[in-house]
Amino acid sequence: MIIRNPNIANLKAGYLFPEIARRRREFASAHPSDVRIISLGVGNTTEPILPHICGGLVEGSRRLGTIEGYLGYQDEGLLELREKISEVFYGRKFDADEIFISDGAKCDIGRLQTLFGAGTRVAVQDPSYPVYVDGSVLSGAAGVWENNGYHGVAYLPCTAENGYFPDFSLVPENSLVYFCSPNNPTGVVSTREQLAELVKFALKKGCIVVFDAAYSEFIRDPSLPKSIFEIDGAEQCAIEVQSFSKSAGFTGVRLGWSVVPKALKYADDESVNADWARLAGTVFNGASNIAQTGALAALDSEGLKEMRRLTDFYLENARLIKGALQNLGISSIGGDNSPYIWARFPGRDSWDVFAEILERYRIVTTPGAGFGPSGQSFIRFSAFGRRADVEEACERLKSFKV
Ligand SMILES: *Cc1c(COP(=O)(O)O)cnc(C)c1O
Repeated sequence: MIIRNPNIANLKAGYLFPEIARRRREFASAHPSDVRIISLGVGNTTEPILPHICGGLVEGSRRLGTIEGYLGYQDEGLLELREKISEVFYGRKFDADEIFISDGAKCDIGRLQTLFGAGTRVAVQDPSYPVYVDGSVLSGAAGVWENNGYHGVAYLPCTAENGYFPDFSLVPENSLVYFCSPNNPTGVVSTREQLAELVKFALKKGCIVVFDAAYSEFIRDPSLPKSIFEIDGAEQCAIEVQSFSKSAGFTGVRLGWSVVPKALKYADDESVNADWARLAGTVFNGASNIAQTGALAALDSEGLKEMRRLTDFYLENARLIKGALQNLGISSIGGDNSPYIWARFPGRDSWDVFAEILERYRIVTTPGAGFGPSGQSFIRFSAFGRRADVEEACERLKSFKV
């Protein structure tokens, strides 16, 4: 018989969200009730794709049925879309061949590790989006920092004490550093000075930063950076992964992109960009042409307005949730320039708080500990939900006693 990939055995038991779904099902079957369970748990979008962008998807399908409009494989993505992304998000700083269209940021994060291989040193913010760690473990990096020694993945605590910004002295040299801003799960957005510190550190220590900017379109404060490439020197040390999932409601459509600058090199001076282009043709073959036509509609002037309207809607949900928590005297961060609110329950176990909120209020949240050890005693509230559900959840929470 073929043996199982030992890296799969190294994955921590139960991916976070299936575990939450299991607990929700268990609770619902043990406590049948007329009171509906409301989810403020997962980061999944709820609002329909807005009409102009949806029209782009329809048009993309229609074109494929015509001789003039038909297209087959487009490994790195439609040239027009790559140029448009460079214009809209990066002030034309990048050539089209530095922008790779993907079927989503998570998919690219999973594939990226192939560039570096087993044994790569990896550092992640703690707490963090689970795929950074799980993707690393799958590709052969496993473990934690222990006894002042490096064992696989290095967790960089982001806590109230350090303002949710990590101490980079914990990062081993020549590491792959995953960094997410606006952050999932904390909702914190790093400042320009902080990202400059990250870039300076990466350049000095030979690290490559995988910068996850999936929530950049939720930033409203103009002083906050939306891309790592707003920082000088980032082209030599960073890859940016991006997505239309949360900004255009494309979670089920599947479309994102990665920026791999030509200035980015490995230790032997080989080009990371050239390898990524090679991988795109070898194990990927490109994103849907229909989704890409939808993305083009999202990036014209009408589409940009719709993305703004959609993210405004979720930000209003965030404001309502944040307000409800504030009224209860529960301290929280995030939610201003991001769709997540990170609420603090000092001294409590986050799975216990999760269970209490589910049992007493029939609201599903996400326990902070599921995102890493530093998430202990926190709960993540997601602003992705229908407005009526968010309002009702806030109403139910009014009687919450910490
Ligand atoms: C939702 C999310 C993504 C988007 O992933 P897609 O594969 O593009 O849907 C990426 N990063 C983070 C941190 C997310 O929360």
